[in-house]
Amino acid sequence: MICPYCNIRMEKGYLQAGQIMLWAKKKHKVSLLPREGDVLIAKDYLCGVAPEAYICKPCKMVVVSYASTEVK
Ligand SMILES: [Zn+2]
Repeated sequence: MICPYCNIRMEKGYLQAGQIMLWAKKKHKVSLLPREGDVLIAKDYLCGVAPEAYICKPCKMVVVSYASTEVK
């Protein structure tokens, strides 16, 4: 993956959180349970989530695809 900001090759790794990772329109204050309009990136109550992610260290940018971790 190429960084959309500086066009150098990004480094592949994993973005890790607790048991849930989501994109939220408004910041959650208590639980991370997704609300309407939120996008659940990954959910794993056993091991914690770690979706594949690419990083550009000079730009301090991380790009995450949630296609492979989408909850069916
Ligand atoms: Zn960059």
